[in-house]
Amino acid sequence: MNKQTLTLCAFLPFAASAAKFSVTSKPFGKVDGKPVALYTLTNESGAKVSITNYGGTVTSIIVPDKDGKMGDVVLGFDTVAEYVEKSPYFGCITGRYANRIAKGKFTLDGKEYSVATNNDPNHLHGGLKGFDKQIWKARVGNMGDNPNLTLTYTSPDGEEGYPGTLNNSVTYTWTQDNALRIRYKSTTDKPTILNLTNHSYFNLAGEGSETNLQHRIKINAEHYNPIDATSIPTGIAPVEGTPFDFRKSTQIGKRIDEENEQLKNGIGYDHNFILKEADDGKMVTAAVVTEPTSGRILTVRTTEPGIQFYTGNFLDDLKGKGGKNYAHRSAFCLESQTFPDSPNQKEFPSPVLRPGETYSQITIYHLGLKKNLKKKKSQTQTERKK
Ligand code: BGC
Repeated sequence: MNKQTLTLCAFLPFAASAAKFSVTSKPFGKVDGKPVALYTLTNESGAKVSITNYGGTVTSIIVPDKDGKMGDVVLGFDTVAEYVEKSPYFGCITGRYANRIAKGKFTLDGKEYSVATNNDPNHLHGGLKGFDKQIWKARVGNMGDNPNLTLTYTSPDGEEGYPGTLNNSVTYTWTQDNALRIRYKSTTDKPTILNLTNHSYFNLAGEGSETNLQHRIKINAEHYNPIDATSIPTGIAPVEGTPFDFRKSTQIGKRIDEENEQLKNGIGYDHNFILKEADDGKMVTAAVVTEPTSGRILTVRTTEPGIQFYTGNFLDDLKGKGGKNYAHRSAFCLESQTFPDSPNQKEFPSPVLRPGETYSQITIYHLGLKKNLKKKKSQTQTERKK
């Protein structure tokens, strides 16, 4: 068997209740002359997620709509070359520091560090060659009935200007009920800062759909971080009475073009929301997004204190999978994280990781269907059987 095309299947005839799943892998081209692979985790219903070890990038999530029709709900490309050439962080692991660090400078234990200002004048998503552009080592496995993939990467001391040798592992588990669970773990040999996330761009009507504005989103946040004109937080403010109040499910498009300084600074929504009840690693529901035509519903749960809600404001007619056009605001990201620029803002949760500690975060993207639609469908099926 070709080493690159490994297949792990679980068909356990002796355990009558055991669900079936498979993990397959195939070559996905080369980066800097080194081969990378594409792994596909499929559950018993046929729903599946594909991930490449280039940047730990989720390239597709294929799940049913209300009529049982499978569709891909994340943006991406067909080839790794396109990811290298033009990806606006589609589906990847962003790190070492997801989001921005003001002017690419921070002080840790009295020493000043400089990192790349790749989002002039600030540092963004780990710099010029962040975790999204690294080739990770892959290992496939399972957690009971659920297939998984673990990626590991050791980031050398000083990489992209960050201190400490950092050992990272990210495990993606695809559950039988269509949840992608991502678990991050890292340790360091010197004090450092860290903020990891996944940067999937969702459109629950299917990738390539024209807009995200018809989705309805509920965010479990009473406060958010307003930003300056360069997208650096200026503090913490209540959402009440602003277009940032998503405590009740609201259409993304309802207020996005209102005359509002914050929406102007973000060119739409591109802000960190401070999760209610988030407390030192406790898992909370961060957001619930519903899409009316497909009936799909995305629930995001996380152990992180914040979530960046980004409405694809910088997408601009990019050619994606199958030649589809990815238009302005045709997808949204929900990036679980600590707050942007927290290395420089003392009142924010600390992003510091010290030797002997383990950075740990879990985020779950669950793809479901609106309950009443599911019910209606099973009612119709029962009626048909009668
Ligand atoms: C940032 C945006 C940025 C996008 C793509 C998001 O996390 O908040 O400002 O344009 O990533 O880089």
